[in-house]
Formats: sequence, C-alpha cells, structure tokens
Amino acid sequence: MRLSRYFLPVLKETPSEAQIVSHRYMLRAGMIKQASAGIYSWLPLGYKVLRRIEEIVHEEQQRAGHIPMLMPTIQSADLWRESGRYDDYGQEMLRITDRQGRDMLFGPTNEELITDIFRANVSSYKDLPLTLYHIQWKFRDEMRPRFGVMRGREFLMKDGYNFDLTKEDALHAYNRHLVTYLRTYERLGLQAIPMRADGGPIGGDYTHEFLVLADTGESEVFYDSDITDLKFGDRAIDYDSVEECEAVLSEFTSRYARTDETHDEAEFAKVPAERQRSARGIEVGQIFYFGTKYSEAMGATVQGPDGKPVPVHMGSHGIGVSRLLGAIIEASHDDKGIIWPEGVTPFHCGIVNLRQGDADTDAACESLETALTNAGLEPLYDDRNERAGGKFATMDLIGLPWRITVGPRGLKNGVVEVTSRRTGESEEMTAEAAVARIAAIYGR
Ligand code: ATP
Ligand code: MG
Repeated sequence: MRLSRYFLPVLKETPSEAQIVSHRYMLRAGMIKQASAGIYSWLPLGYKVLRRIEEIVHEEQQRAGHIPMLMPTIQSADLWRESGRYDDYGQEMLRITDRQGRDMLFGPTNEELITDIFRANVSSYKDLPLTLYHIQWKFRDEMRPRFGVMRGREFLMKDGYNFDLTKEDALHAYNRHLVTYLRTYERLGLQAIPMRADGGPIGGDYTHEFLVLADTGESEVFYDSDITDLKFGDRAIDYDSVEECEAVLSEFTSRYARTDETHDEAEFAKVPAERQRSARGIEVGQIFYFGTKYSEAMGATVQGPDGKPVPVHMGSHGIGVSRLLGAIIEASHDDKGIIWPEGVTPFHCGIVNLRQGDADTDAACESLETALTNAGLEPLYDDRNERAGGKFATMDLIGLPWRITVGPRGLKNGVVEVTSRRTGESEEMTAEAAVARIAAIYGR
C-alpha cells in the first residue's frame, strides 16, 4: 500500500477527551473515530487490526473443532422473556420497537438465540457434543462508556456456546475453551491470566476471566507472581483429550489469581509474602459453565441414551475482540506511539523513502515494495513528499514492528536500513537481505 493513496488521518494534537494511552494513540493514529458516545467507526488502519484479531480468534476456535456461524444483532424480546432475562437485564439493554409494535432488542449477548436454534434442530444425544460460536457486534448501554474501544456501547465480541449431554462433558468443553483462549491471547502478543471470577447472575464456581495486567485496567486483581512465568507456547494439544485439557487448566489455575469479586484474604495469605501481588487488569475474556439454566428455562432437551429427554449442559465463552485493540496498545507502546506485536500488525513493515522524487531512491523503494509483496507480505510504503522526520514520526505512531529506510547515501553503498520499532536498533543490509529478514520474521 502506498501511503499517498491510503486513508490514514493522523492527528498531530493529542485529543483532550482521551484519558488513557490506547485511546489517545488509536485516535491519533487514525484508527477510529467516535460516532457517538461509546460507538465508533473503524477507519482503515483500525479495521485492519480488528480483522487480524478476528482471524486469529477464528483459527484458534476452529483448531479446537468449534463451528463458526453468524447470528443477528437484533433479537426478538420474546426469547428473552422465556429465559426470564428480559426484565433482569435492566437499562444496559437497548430496547427497540418495530413498526408492528413488536418488542425487539439489540443483543448484548446470545444465549437465548443460540438455545432457540439448538432446540429447534437438535433432538438426540448422538448430535452432541456441539460448540457453535460467532463474532458479532453487541450493544450494551453502558452507564459510563469510556476509554475508547475498551468500554464501548457497541463492541465486537466472539461468543461461543457449548452443548453437552453431561456435566463432565460440559466441563471438558470449559477446559478446552480455556486452552483455546490461552493460545489466542499469546498469538496476539498478550499475557492474559485466567483468574477465578464471580459467576454473577449466572452463578456457579466455573468461571474464569482472562486479565491483561495494566495500570489503566478497570478490574482489581490479586495473584501469586509465579503465575506470570507460565507460557502456553507452541505445545501440541489434543483438544479431544480430557486429560490434556484438564492438565492445562490445572497448570494455569492452581496458583492464586482472583479478581476483587472472589478475592479471599485468608487464601491469599497462604501465598509467600514476596510473591503476593495486587494490580489492575483489563478483562479481555471470560468463560462460563452454567449447567442447565437456559436449557431448562427454554426446553432445550435431547433424547438421552435411555430414550428419556434430558436438558443439555451448556457454557458460554466470550472474547472482547474490539476491546483487545486497546488492551494490546496498553501493553505495548512507548512515548512515540504504538508497538504492534507481529501477530496483529496492520502492515508487516513500513518503507520510508528519505528522498522522494529522486529517481534512484524511488525505484529502489518500488522494487522493495514489489519484492516484499511477492514474498507474501504487505508493506506500507510512505511515498509522500514529507521530510524524513515527519515520516519517521508517522511510522513510530502507527507502530509497525519493522521499518526499512531507503536513502541515496545508503543506496550508494548498496544498502538499506532495517529498524526494529521495539528496540529502536537498526542494521544495514542489502535490499535482498532486508526482504529475506522480514519474510523470515513472519515465517514466509
Ligand atoms: P465488564 O465486566 O468489563 O463490563 P462483562 O463481564 O460484562 O465485562 P462479558 O459478558 O464477560 O463482559 O463479555 C465478554 C467480553 O466482552 C469481556 O470479557 C470483555 O472483554 C468484552 N466486553 C464486555 N463489555 C464490553 C464493553 N462495554 N466494551 C468492550 N468490550 C466489552
Ligand atoms: Mg465478563
């Protein structure tokens, strides 16, 4: 992509309404524009990262055998009356009346809709286990939308729902989701710690929230510092193996890690004093097992092996896809701007032309752009007639992890410069070597 043809409305001034760094940088880097309180347009750069996160979430869900689908944003109130949540949900629910006078709502979540789909189509235990998920916009009329996409009113969520014959099967689905989430967050360049959470109106002991530690997080958390050494890494896992998934769950949840809602001073005191930590965290996901709550209320039963109808055991599992952009930036930035992890970067690298209009330099940049593209990479070439300082500032702000700088002086010696956004370190090499280097970083 040529920057001169792209739409990247970078702001010079720091917007005064933004209180936290991720919100400031998302506005300044031209990633989002507020449409109304807590509702955003996703400008091209922000949209690219959002899509990249979605792709990773899809890949990891499908790796575990979960099936993608898409449910609507607008739902009928009748289903929510069946579950009893139409009245319970309160003012966070955006209620709408259509021209026929029917009560509708903009879905804040999808348990009712998916249960309705399930009961209409599945009647035998032989069709279980089943996990369906989608990535869809949600609306919650939050009292205080703030911090940009972190606490929006309209936001993108991956929500998945498992249907199982027994509690044991449903707990395996729970553990399996925990594993998929660990992998997903690590691929996004994040450490998200599963913490024992409060079931809220859903109830039950089986719920974990995934938290990214950050001073600007809205949750208060308490944990054993040993937990931050755990890495899921690149291990192969058989998602059908109850033992393997259980082992990961116990590895990642046996140390003390809780949100303030479930924090227990007496338990926490058992952690050696030098490992006790309290901090702030951003909730980027949550998993639940809630048994037969919805299946009983809505008549989602299957015929069991003995021919008798049994209500299915269910769980729901959410990832805050749009909130993740904010969380990643909170975890990865410096005073010049964003530093994207390679897994989610909107462009693989930037190309900065130090002498736009100089025939040799322009030609070198163009052939670099072609070579990178042929290697399966997507570079952003800053071909504007701007001073070098301005080009560097833009690249630093938008946070591409790698930059190739091309100027007449280097070209005379047959080299370009490759710079890491994270370390700031530069290395001179031939253009061919630069392409090979970037390709290798991305495994191309
Ligand atoms: P919170 O406690 O932050 O209000 P929640 O527990 O109500 O969130 P869930 O129902 O667990 O949210 O939704 C799953 C995920 O969706 C959350 O873990 C979070 O990452 C994301 N999410 C929830 N509310 C918002 C919001 N208002 N804006 C952006 N993302 C959100
Ligand atoms: Mg939650």
